[in-house]
Amino acid sequence: MRDSANTPASAECVFCKIARKEIPVREIERTEDAVVFADLDPKAPCHLLVIPARHAENLGAFAAEAGERAVGALFALASKVGREASEAGAYRIVVNEGAEAGQTVFHLHLHVLAGRRMGWPPG
Ligand code: AMP
Ligand code: ZN
Repeated sequence: MRDSANTPASAECVFCKIARKEIPVREIERTEDAVVFADLDPKAPCHLLVIPARHAENLGAFAAEAGERAVGALFALASKVGREASEAGAYRIVVNEGAEAGQTVFHLHLHVLAGRRMGWPPG
């Protein structure tokens, strides 16, 4: 189990603050339900984050709380911005689900990476 200090309530959550425009980011797109913005520490020439506007700790929680249509809409948005960001139409969508998988911010986010050749398997 993770320490509860690592799972802030939405009032303290950095991505909730971004969704509420309380922290400045390079915003790419905003819908009623989601925000797309540039990652602060990019791991590719294009590295975007797609987040639901409402707080959900991870993909499992978001699916349970918001439903499969909302999950589909979030992935469709990631796919759209990935296509737009990549001349070659090649991009990678990543979800780090849980600390052991590399999740450090516990508000669901889809990484969209493009602009370089990707290795496989990821580390
Ligand atoms: P993860 O390790 O999958 O939880 O990814 C968290 C991502 O959020 C990392 O790639 C960070 O660089 C990014 N990040 C953290 N804080 C900010 C911020 N204030 N603005 C933009 N990106 C951020
Ligand atoms: Zn949040």
